[in-house]
Amino acid sequence: MKIPMSSPDLTEADRQAVLDVMNTPILSLGPKVVEFEKKVAEYIGVKHAIAVNSGTAGLHLTVRAAGITAGDRVVTSPFSFVASTNALLFENAVPIYVDVDYKTGNISVDQLRQAVKDLAAGGEKAKKWLPRKNAGEGMLKALLPVDVFGQPADYDPILEIAEQYHLEIIEDSCEALGATYKGKKAGLFGKYGIFAFYPNKQITTGEGGIVITNDDTAANLMKALRNQGRAPGDTWLSHTYLGYNYRLDEMSSALGISQIARVDSMIACREQVAKWYLEQLAGVAEIELPILAPETTRMSWFVFVIRLAKKIDRQQFASNLEAKGVPVRPYFLPIHLQPYMVEKFGYQPGDYPVTEDLGLRGVALPFSGVMTFEQVQYVCDVLKQELAR
Ligand SMILES: *Cc1c(COP(=O)(O)O)cnc(C)c1O
Repeated sequence: MKIPMSSPDLTEADRQAVLDVMNTPILSLGPKVVEFEKKVAEYIGVKHAIAVNSGTAGLHLTVRAAGITAGDRVVTSPFSFVASTNALLFENAVPIYVDVDYKTGNISVDQLRQAVKDLAAGGEKAKKWLPRKNAGEGMLKALLPVDVFGQPADYDPILEIAEQYHLEIIEDSCEALGATYKGKKAGLFGKYGIFAFYPNKQITTGEGGIVITNDDTAANLMKALRNQGRAPGDTWLSHTYLGYNYRLDEMSSALGISQIARVDSMIACREQVAKWYLEQLAGVAEIELPILAPETTRMSWFVFVIRLAKKIDRQQFASNLEAKGVPVRPYFLPIHLQPYMVEKFGYQPGDYPVTEDLGLRGVALPFSGVMTFEQVQYVCDVLKQELAR
């Protein structure tokens, strides 16, 4: 048997929705993108949704809207997909890292509290949290927590810290569409939230993403910025702002409309697959299974990541599974140790020990909402055989 790493959940209605757009002359800047935004805003329960052509583009727009500029500091997590940090680097802002909670892999609130306090105090106290070089001299402006693997970060304390120090929150919910924290939907905790729609996410538009906010001014600015900086009233060739082409086209938007209509049933399928994995792998020695925090009232299961015991050679483990048709991926590789981050900020192994430990031992198993019980069983059998060798 050969198992795909992930598969989108596509129906005949999804395909027809895209084809219907192809039978009109309007392939961009049409009614579908507006309708998609409305449907996502309704699903989340937020005033504005601004569709863009990737989650990364969405993150970048929020950084611009938050007024984060060169040298400004933003506290974020090194245990994430690189886009959450890169969006800051695009504006020459300085990501300040705080290590993560061992159980969830989300930003550690105890360390976050200490970091923000020390950074506000400045001087020697602040220094311990800064990168070795290019730390800049700017103000601490915002917090950028990431809801990893489909599980929201611990927002009650994060909101408290943000309020106390007057910091904006940008919530990278690109992995957590549909997840809830104490019954409230992920993406809603800060002034800005971002979702992404790459084919392995909970819903897909091929490429795509969306920003959500309740703030009218920020929404208008982001709508202008995604459309080459054209403000309302600007003609095609007049540009109030330095903008980008971050527009989502009509075919992608039509697919998004069709997908968001099924989002809860698609997440339920992911929950079912995760449950099969948890049952099949319960009690297996030498691995740790995903842990849900008590505050997580719904995990939307972006990926299924296990942790291998330290003594297992992950690379060998991965290639042995691959040989039996089971692809697995190391997940995540810590951001601070990516070559461009080491070069710019001088990070070293050991700087964020929990992130590095999880990064060295984490393995994403094949996962999607369309996996069958037989496929899950095959993956688990192969995995158990390999561990028993
Ligand atoms: C998927 C993802 C993004 C956005 O990715 P794109 O490929 O640009 O859509 C951002 N942050 C995290 C944590 C993600 O997993």
